[in-house]
Amino acid sequence: MNGLTSLEKAQKVVLDSASALGCEKIGLLEAMGRVLGEDIIAPRDNPPWNNSAMDGFAVRWEDIKQDFAITRIPELKIIEDVPAGNMPQKTVGRGEAIRIMTGAPMPAGADTVVRVEFTEPLGDDHVRIMKPEDGQGVHIRPQGEDVKQGDCIIAKGTMLRPGEIGMLAILAKSFVSVYQRPRVAILSTGDELADLDERFDESKIVNSNSYGIAAGVQEAGGIPLLLGIANDHPDSLKEKIYQGLTCDIIVLSGGVSMGDYDFTKPVFEELGAEMNFWKLAIRPGQPVAFGKIQRSLAFGLPGNPVSSMVTFDQLVRLAILKMGGHSSFQRPVVKAVFQETFSKHTDRRHFLRGVLKHEDGVLTVRTTGGQGSGILTSMVKANGLIDVPEDVEHLNPGDTVSVQLLSRNF
Ligand code: AMP
Ligand code: MG
Repeated sequence: MNGLTSLEKAQKVVLDSASALGCEKIGLLEAMGRVLGEDIIAPRDNPPWNNSAMDGFAVRWEDIKQDFAITRIPELKIIEDVPAGNMPQKTVGRGEAIRIMTGAPMPAGADTVVRVEFTEPLGDDHVRIMKPEDGQGVHIRPQGEDVKQGDCIIAKGTMLRPGEIGMLAILAKSFVSVYQRPRVAILSTGDELADLDERFDESKIVNSNSYGIAAGVQEAGGIPLLLGIANDHPDSLKEKIYQGLTCDIIVLSGGVSMGDYDFTKPVFEELGAEMNFWKLAIRPGQPVAFGKIQRSLAFGLPGNPVSSMVTFDQLVRLAILKMGGHSSFQRPVVKAVFQETFSKHTDRRHFLRGVLKHEDGVLTVRTTGGQGSGILTSMVKANGLIDVPEDVEHLNPGDTVSVQLLSRNF
């Protein structure tokens, strides 16, 4: 081997170290995007009774099934009106019909609905059936066609989207159990950094990593807690890390290489972390430190903005998702047709920032341009990460590549 650790191996170590947090009850309107902490068992059928799928008349198929070409037009006596929200009181007998609205419960005796467009009124209380319906039982939505009482309708571990929220409302769940959101402490390190709310001179650069990482935490369903900036000194680092130990995860950026001012690794070790120190076989992404300090998972990410974001995305995000109750962790992947030439060595898997497009019915992808690990506009422009495997040396226009979808429409 080349001394590099594969991303898959590092991801497995991270996922094995993380476990789902406890659950909490929240109101349904707060539940969008949260992960369900209980199996949802239907307490009743939906729909709760057979009901009409049309505005029209509930009838007996016997009374209307005749051949319209050769016999008279059926005329039925209207014995009741059933608007939606009312229960029918009467039973449809021979030669009778009940006027019914979409969604209203089917009356006893009737087995078919004739849509209103196929009928004509006849006086105040009769209706003529002008056209045949397709057959016995049409336009009836059967009881339980959507949900059967006792079935598990949404499984624990499902992320709630509008469909699930609507279903929970159907099942009258106004409160729902969801996994707690992991709390993630974020610390940037480096004497060159200044924070947004500070006055700073020209020797400094703005600490952007903390904000980009905080946004990544939120996107993954976690709660970020910004610890600010630590100096390039072990004591400063330790003091800040202590503040983060109430959180489930601590993420540092910068200071993780082996330079004179890189203290993440020794400080993690001094604080009792059983350390994994990886030189990951990916680009962007340099050394990454990972271990457990007391109850918190601790990550040391590279300082370069794109490297920190990509390593966050491929490692820290997985831990947040698992702690947050998710059961799948990889971003959705699509195949797309590469439009450029690209060459690399075969020792690392590359994540090129890419722009996916639909062109003439084909999904295409181009890089965003410069791919240096300090070029954050590459993340601004990208809607996908082009995943170029370790063993691929060249890509040519027309080659098919895998692209991880970053959350943006295209
Ligand atoms: P380091 O990994 O500490 O050697 O940092 C590498 C480079 O990343 C530094 O020279 C900075 O330019 C940049 N960098 C480190 N931390 C941050 C940060 N929090 N925000 C923006 N850039 C950073
Ligand atoms: Mg540094």
